Formats: sequence, C-alpha cells, structure tokens
Amino acid sequence: MLDTLHRIVNTVNRAPNLQEALTTLVRAVRDAIDSDVCSIYLVDEESRANVLMATVGLESKAVGRVRLPFGRGLVGLVAERAEPVNVADAPAHPRYVRVHHTGETRFRGFLGVPIIQSRRVLGVLVVRQRDVREFQDDEVTFLFTLAAQLAGAITHARASGELDELTGGLRPVTRFLAGQAANAGVAIGTAVVSYQASDLDAVPDRPAEDARAECQRFQRAVEQVEADLQRLQSRLEGRLPEEDRALFDALLLMLRSETLLLQTEELIHGGLWAPAALRETIASHAAIFDEMDDPYLRERASDVRDLGRRILLHLEHDAPRPMEYPPHTVLVGEDVSATQIAEVPSGRLAGVVSVGGSGSSHAAILARAMGVPAVTGVADLPVNRMHGRPLIVDGYRGRIYVDPAPAVRDEYQRLLAEERALGAEVEGMRGLPSETTDGHPVPLYLNTGLIDQLNGEERAEAAGVGLYRTELPFMVRDRFPGESEQAEKYRRVLQLFAPRPVVLRTLDIGGDKELPYFPVKEQNPFLGWRGIRISLQHPEIFLTQIRAMLRADIGLGNLQILLPMISGVGEVDELQQLIRRAHDELLEEGHAVSMPRVGVMIEVPSAVYQAGELARRVDFLSIGTNDLTQYLLAVDRNNARVADLYDELHPAVLRALRSVTEAAAEFNRPVSVCGELAGNPLATILLLGMGVTTLSMSAGSLLRVKWVVRSVSRSRARQILGVALRMEDADQVRRFMENTLEEMGLAGLIRPGK
Ligand code: PEP
Ligand code: MG
Repeated sequence: MLDTLHRIVNTVNRAPNLQEALTTLVRAVRDAIDSDVCSIYLVDEESRANVLMATVGLESKAVGRVRLPFGRGLVGLVAERAEPVNVADAPAHPRYVRVHHTGETRFRGFLGVPIIQSRRVLGVLVVRQRDVREFQDDEVTFLFTLAAQLAGAITHARASGELDELTGGLRPVTRFLAGQAANAGVAIGTAVVSYQASDLDAVPDRPAEDARAECQRFQRAVEQVEADLQRLQSRLEGRLPEEDRALFDALLLMLRSETLLLQTEELIHGGLWAPAALRETIASHAAIFDEMDDPYLRERASDVRDLGRRILLHLEHDAPRPMEYPPHTVLVGEDVSATQIAEVPSGRLAGVVSVGGSGSSHAAILARAMGVPAVTGVADLPVNRMHGRPLIVDGYRGRIYVDPAPAVRDEYQRLLAEERALGAEVEGMRGLPSETTDGHPVPLYLNTGLIDQLNGEERAEAAGVGLYRTELPFMVRDRFPGESEQAEKYRRVLQLFAPRPVVLRTLDIGGDKELPYFPVKEQNPFLGWRGIRISLQHPEIFLTQIRAMLRADIGLGNLQILLPMISGVGEVDELQQLIRRAHDELLEEGHAVSMPRVGVMIEVPSAVYQAGELARRVDFLSIGTNDLTQYLLAVDRNNARVADLYDELHPAVLRALRSVTEAAAEFNRPVSVCGELAGNPLATILLLGMGVTTLSMSAGSLLRVKWVVRSVSRSRARQILGVALRMEDADQVRRFMENTLEEMGLAGLIRPGK
C-alpha cells in the first residue's frame, strides 16, 4: 500500500493544475482499492455547497453540476463531522439522499473521508461500491493520507483563484493565506516575483574543453558578483544602518571563501565545465546548512544558493535583466533573499512575502530594518502564478490576500488611512515627558542591536537603551570579535546615549540565535545550551566581553550589564565573581574602570519563583517576556504551527510578572520589562499597575506606549490590573484591555491580531 501511495502522490504532484490532479487521483484510488467509484467534492463556501469536482464511476457530465448544499447526504455528513463515514449499505443510512444524474442508486458501500487543512474542511474524498462493502481500516487510512496530500494543492488553487474558476466563475477572494508575521504593518500593492533568473539545479553536466579557460571564466564571474554585491551594499548607504549592511559583508566573505573557489576549480580540472562544477559546489555547501537544526543557520543555505545563481548568471553571459518595480512593490518569492530586497529601488518597496524563511531570516531582518511589513513562511503561496497580481500583506496577523475582494481591500485601505492618521497623532507625543497623569515618571528605553535602525529623533526620545542584544553584531561575522573590536562597538553605543544608561546584555546565543562559527547542534535548543549557560562553560568568551564592556565605559559611567537566561542563584554568584575578576584585572593593568550596575533577566520560570533571592544579589531585574511566555506556556516562539497558543496576555504570564514585581519591591530593586510585551499598548496599564519601573521596547512602539502612560494615573492602573488578574483566559484580558483603551479615547492604539 505504501508503494502505491508514493506512486499516486508523485503522479498527482506532477499534474499541471488542480483539475488534472483531481482526475488523476480518482482514477488511481479506484484502481488501488478496487472500488467501483471514486469522487472528490470540494467545499464552495460562497454557495454553501459541496461541489462534485472529479469522478470515475459516476456520470462524467455530473462534474461541476452536482452541488450538494451543506449538510445534505452522506457527503454533507463527512464534511460536517470532519471525520470519515464508513457505511456498508448507504441507502439504508438515515442521511442518505439520492442524487439525480449521477447513477447514485446503484451503489451501496460508501466511504468518505474529509480533506482537511489547518482544521478546515476543504472537501470530501469518496469511494463507493456496487455491493454492500465495509471498507477496511487500512483503506480508510490510505484515503486519509491521500486527502492530506491533496489539501495543500487545494489551498494553493484557492489562493491563486484557480479553484474559483473551477467551481463556477471568478469571484473576488476574501480568503487569506497564513504565514508568520515577520514585521508589523499593512501593505497594499502589486506582487513582483523575485524569480531565479538562472536555475542552477537544471545545469547539465558537460566536459570542460579547456580547463584553464573555464577556470578563468569562473573567476571572472566571481569577480563580477563581488562587484554587484558591493554596488548593492553602497546603494543601501543611508537607507540602512551600517550594522545591517554588514549582511553583505557576510555574503562577500562566503563568496571569497577558499572552499567555494578551490572546490569549484578542482572539479573543473577534474573535467567538468564551470556551470556544472559550480552547481556541485553550491549544492554541497548548501546541504551543510540545510541539515542544521537551527533556523538561523538553515537560512544561510539560501544565501549560498543565491550566490550560486548570481555566479551562474555571469557565467552564462546573461547579465541580470533589470526588473520592473511598480510604485507599491510587494516582493514575493520562494525564498526572498536580502540582495533581492536591496535591488528594489528606494521608495518602491511596500512589503515582503516569502514562502520560506522565518523571523530570523535575512529577508525578515532587512524588512524590519526598512520598516516594511513582511510575512514569511507562507507555505501555500503559488509563487509562479503571483507576478503582477494585486496583493495585501497583513504583517500584524501574518496574512496574505491575493486578488482581494473590494470589501477586503476597503477594510485594509481604512486601516492604512487610520495608521497614517494615528501616526500624526502619535507624533504629538514626541518630546513630552513619559509620566502618568499623577506625575509619576515611567522612563521608556530602547531595545536595539543589529536589526534596529535608530535615527537621531528616536535616540532623543528614549531614556536610554534598556536592552542591547550584543549577540546580533556577533552573528554577521566569521569569528568571535576580539576585546578591542568589541570595546569599540560598545563605546559607540555608550557614547551615543551618555549620560543616559545603556544596558548591555552579555552574549545570549543558542536557542534560535546561532553563530555560524560556533554551531551548537541540539535536539531541544531552547532547553539546551544557551545564554549564560554557554558563558559559564566558556569563561574566556564571557571575560573578554566583560572586559570590553568595562573598557568601553571608562570616563562615561553609563554602562549596566544584564545577564540572560538565569535559572538559579548559583549562576549569578559565579558570574558576579567573573565580573569582579575582569574589573580587578583591568584595574591592575592600569585601566580606570569602575564597577557597573549588574542585573539579571527574568525569563525562565524558575527565576520567577526565585525573583526575591535574585533581586537580593543584583542591582535590577529585567523581565524577558518573549522567553518567559514561551517557557511558561510551552510554546516555541518561532513555530508558526503553535503561534495561536503563544500569548503574552495569558493570565499565567500576567501572574508571573506580578509576582516578580512584588519580589523586587520587597528588596527595593527596580524592575524593567524588555520583551515585546513592553511595547504593546494593551499591556502598558497592566505593567504600570504592577509597579514596573521602566519599559524597554523597539523604537517604533515608544510614542504609542508613551501615549498610554500619559493617559492614566497609577491608582487607576492598579484598579484595572486588579480586574484583569481575576480573568481566566487571554482573550478575556485582551477584550477587557481593548475596551479600557477605547473608553480612554485610545482606540486608535488597538491593532488587529495579537
Ligand atoms: C526576551 O526573551 O523577552 C528578550 C527580551 O530576549 P530575546 O528576545 O533576545 O530572547
Ligand atoms: Mg530572551
């Protein structure tokens, strides 16, 4: 059965369109399980009917004509229950109805299985038998497996409009495709498919006629790609901060890597012509990254392939054709690369949609830095049918609408207009003090690191930096930066904000943040060797970083050090000894360093329960709600499948935060919140009510949060918190907070989605 299954799946996958896939499938299934009939019905939500789309065994003229209203017949029963219905003698079943024009009454045995994707029934796959027949369990599971395979193809066809054409006339689409929200915001624009102008995998093997000439041809192509990348990099000057442009340095490094060059030349000398040698080298390099568990490193495989394609383009003497970019370009691709984004002329990029990738892919990082909405991981997007089509990108909820219906378009136009109006209103907050209506100051800090683009205005607005993620600059290099290199980098940040405080977090790698030159391969990386656990086992890395931080602070005195992923007091004691040691050594070496304030992150559940013991040992606490939420709720923060379960307004999260602020108050220590929750206006009042001292967030959230702070008094915030803490689920809390903001005249701050 398994072989048959594979064969059918392969044939169906090769079908050029959905109709052919369905027709192929019904034939193959009927033969495989020796039934008299096999049919597929698809759900048509507009007309609320299950439409016969393919059959073998029933009258072929019934295809497209038989439309069973929802709930009607055994097919209706399968769709309604979303589970298989296996009836030996169908006409005897109370839900059986006879359908004309199909020859239905001749059949007795009936098995129907639902075709389901993401909990939604898309259709029903049915087999029928002339005689009484109860289908076997393995036949049921066989159909199940096929139905699951078919679900993806149907979703594709729905998104591209193909299904509407099949089920009767073109209708504007109100459905959406789901992916991961990689950058918030809404874009309405036209899809431009960032296509692979050159298909490396399709290059055939050919002998090299003149190996030396072939090697020279290859080297010339590499040089040309190098020049292209440098040109792209300089084109981004002024549009992106230097740190983000460093992504191109990483690509250039990869391009110049000896293994890439030597391996290709070796293959050429071994007899292959340059394009095939390149194909082999790129495939083997990409495979190494592909096999890595870590999503960040896996993304590097697409960088390698991107480089390969670029080299091939030059090898083929086929200079890249200039693409046409309409004014509101939404860049769409299987695996949109950083260079493809950079190629869009300034001011034309409205959004980015990628089938592959995650929140840590380069596409997502660049989209964020450029402030354009992005959705990644849209697995069902039929990319090759997208070019030139109208598209809406909902970067709040991670949704894509292809050929949106006028009603959907209007709704999003309204949202865009609101965003603009709100933008102007929010701007009014600039320069005003961040304090409650009863005059209590709530300093707002910035989260920054590689991905954030901070202009002078944004810097001026902030009370300082509440979280500087030092690992991000480490990521785009090919080795650990040395003490002086780090010191220089930290000094720049400290100087930029002095005398305002800057909280530098020590290296927090592991989990989803991997360094290319320090791979950690684990089955459960979020529960493994990450953050401070690595620092404790590699004191040399930690000490180098601390020394760099202390040196950077000489003469400034605004440095604070934050320790991530603390799960027990022993870790803090040990790390503080190391910090003291670095400090004393530097003094002995004649550097005028001073001891900075040291804090710990509360982002592991055990730290919540020991917040008091931790507070006693350090100068401040900073709550990392991103990790705390994932650990409390046991939901991977990067996994789209469980994204619905990840909710920072979950009562368990709120209660954990509350107990941390209480513990900190007992020891008179300030508490900051530096996870995404700090930038969510729905949570601001709750955090104020808990007595959180400062909030640290990305630059884009600062004025919105300030608006909330300036609209509420501390006693009112405590009252509202008291009500919210009695609620039993996140939706209830969300609705309550939305109503509260609405009553306060802050409805504009409520955004769709979580
Ligand atoms: C957090 O976990 O909330 C946090 C701020 O750290 P990061 O997002 O870098 O893990
Ligand atoms: Mg964290």
